[in-house]
Amino acid sequence: MTSTSELAALDRRTLVHPHTTIGAPAEPLILDRGEGALLWDTEGRRYIDGTCGLWQCPVGHGRTELADVAAGQIRRLEFYSSFGDYSNAPSIHLAERLLSLAPAGLERVFFTNGGSEGNETAIKLARLAFHHAGSPERTVVLARTGGYHGMGGASLAATGIEGLRAGFGPLLPDVEWLGKPHAIEYGPDAADVLVAELEQRIAEIGAHRIAAFIGEPVLGVGGMVPPPDGYWPRVQEVLRRNGILLIVDEIVTAFGRTGHWFGSHHFGIEPDMIVTAKGITSGYVPMGAVLIGRRVLDLADGATFLHGFTYNGHPVGAAVALANLDIIERENLLERARVLGARLRERLDPLTELAHVREVRGVGLMLGIEFTGVPTASVQSGCRADGVVVRASGTSIVLSPPLVITEDQIDTLADVLCRHVAAAAS
Ligand code: PLP
Repeated sequence: MTSTSELAALDRRTLVHPHTTIGAPAEPLILDRGEGALLWDTEGRRYIDGTCGLWQCPVGHGRTELADVAAGQIRRLEFYSSFGDYSNAPSIHLAERLLSLAPAGLERVFFTNGGSEGNETAIKLARLAFHHAGSPERTVVLARTGGYHGMGGASLAATGIEGLRAGFGPLLPDVEWLGKPHAIEYGPDAADVLVAELEQRIAEIGAHRIAAFIGEPVLGVGGMVPPPDGYWPRVQEVLRRNGILLIVDEIVTAFGRTGHWFGSHHFGIEPDMIVTAKGITSGYVPMGAVLIGRRVLDLADGATFLHGFTYNGHPVGAAVALANLDIIERENLLERARVLGARLRERLDPLTELAHVREVRGVGLMLGIEFTGVPTASVQSGCRADGVVVRASGTSIVLSPPLVITEDQIDTLADVLCRHVAAAAS
């Protein structure tokens, strides 16, 4: 068997990891197996998973039930394209299931392999719908500072994190910016300020030029930032009044993370499109879905949608997704996210007394701790050395453990994290 040090050397010699410096490969943490909210590396060291990797795993690691479903589907029909009139039973059943769980008004599903593809799809579809309906000048997408929507031409163009956009040349044109929806940036009138800004930007650009607004119910990569109180219903009203489609990026917030099937349920959002991925299969197989609402379907009625990816509607992904949704339902994981989220929050809240902690915030089991002037990378590496995986995201540490994490594991996670946050200032 290849030793850990040999694997590490091979990794550095052969791979380019996402979000690393080319020519300066990092020392890899090589993971070997997982169970529930626990991970083990190839040296047998154990970690509590405080992030689910990139927030993708509500049901936790090591579910043999999902492995069996995937194997069974591969034996039966591993894959066939869904282009044109080809279809398969798992993706048909999954579409029906997703629509039954989603907010009212969403009526069709377009499958993808992941989140970026979903946002590419939603943005293209919004533009195509208006083009087809006789308003081809409606091409502008309103996006928000601090938002993250992926790495494709359109999804990166709509991502409001400057560092991620730098160096790639011109991206999709006609993206216009709104302020970061973060209450502490604006004070008690935050929703008023942001809604006034939205109205003003629409007036400047011209509603007749704007196809869609895209936003996450809670900023994820941006630091697990819930919106100011009252933000979503008011934003939605402005968009409706101006005929602008609302694309809700639920790639992190769907499937239990906020304590509901969709973050839209939590905030009372009525989206024209929802984009999902990650938790739809708990990451066991790559899969995503765009849920499409009546307004879009009416605008685009009769339009040919020359758009698709080879693995659209993958039967293995769909079969695993159905079994994954069964587990979320059977094990009451939405409720668990609410209860354990409150427990974790209670243990982290005292950190706000530290001078270098700007805010502790979150919804359900997605929480962020924002610092002032302290490197978050050192908190991340300190926690990992003590067997807890957390993620540094800009000036914040973000948390989103599997929803099956136990009470004891939550408490250990919180203790270790609090210790390293406190030490970070010294
Ligand atoms: N949108 C949000 C909110 C995300 O958090 C992510 C990934 O983290 C994406 C889009 C992109 O998804 P993917 O990496 O599957 O393309």
